[in-house]
Amino acid sequence: MDDCIFCKIANKEIPTSLVYEDDLVAAFNDLSPQAPVHVLIVPKKHYQSVLEVPEGDAIVAHMFHVASKLAKELGIAEKGFRLVINTGKDGGQSVPHLHLHMTGGREHGWPAG
Ligand code: AMP
Repeated sequence: MDDCIFCKIANKEIPTSLVYEDDLVAAFNDLSPQAPVHVLIVPKKHYQSVLEVPEGDAIVAHMFHVASKLAKELGIAEKGFRLVINTGKDGGQSVPHLHLHMTGGREHGWPAG
């Protein structure tokens, strides 16, 4: 996708504070962090949302695996953290490229906050 900001970040056309990358995903700090740790894990391939991931495609499982690894490395695994995939307008998705939010370093409320 030519004008997708997360494609550009994943392809290094836009500089960002990359915390991890492999062949399938890039992870970087959210521009507007909602917690002391707020990392976005995005697939390098463009999917508009989780709705576009076909059955049998392991990308979402890989994103969660990377989140688990990063949580340990960033020191938030022991106390806990939150993983969120906003989907569509009502789901609060503002960037139309599948991404996993990982927030930690503070206590989270439920359902909000
Ligand atoms: P969502 O609302 O779930 O689509 O989340 C999009 C997230 O992307 C928001 O938390 C934004 O702060 C974040 N964001 C938007 N542009 C950038 C950027 N250039 N670098 C890092 N994070 C970004």
